[in-house]
Amino acid sequence: MKALINIDYTNDFVAPDGALTCGAPGLAIEGALCGVTEEFIKNGDFVVFAVDRHSPGDCLHPETKLFPPHNLRGTDGRKLYGRLGALFARHENADNVYWMDKTRYSAFAGTDLFIRLRERGIDEIYVSGVCTDICVLHTLVDAYNLGFKLNVYAAAVASFDPAGHEWALRHFAGGMGANVILV
Ligand code: ZN
Repeated sequence: MKALINIDYTNDFVAPDGALTCGAPGLAIEGALCGVTEEFIKNGDFVVFAVDRHSPGDCLHPETKLFPPHNLRGTDGRKLYGRLGALFARHENADNVYWMDKTRYSAFAGTDLFIRLRERGIDEIYVSGVCTDICVLHTLVDAYNLGFKLNVYAAAVASFDPAGHEWALRHFAGGMGANVILV
């Protein structure tokens, strides 16, 4: 069984005026990301929308020192960007669609994602979203250590940092044995 984990494709991370936008590379993956998401949903495979969630002025959170405020609870910045938002709205009540708040880079950190995957017998994950070298990377590292088979859609992940993006794709394949899908 397989699942798609769709990471942080929100207004704050993708829209041109987003609080922590990855800019043109994030916009460029919209079609590919929506395409694979729709395919998984229609095939009945499990689709997780793993979405960063922060509280204003959280002095205990490590990202507070690193980044401007982003994906604050209750704001439009946390909503899924563009066509992905519309796609989610059409399918959000489906049994195989799961919105999951996260508070760290990895979708596994402090969430019930592992339990949700195990209860469905899922041993293989596919990943899309942003940023390739931060949240996508940390999620894949955790999935690797948990023994999942890994797949990454190269055309559906993006970063503000082109060098980081390229390095991360090489690391997924060479360092973790991930299948990096070049479509
Ligand atoms: Zn964050």
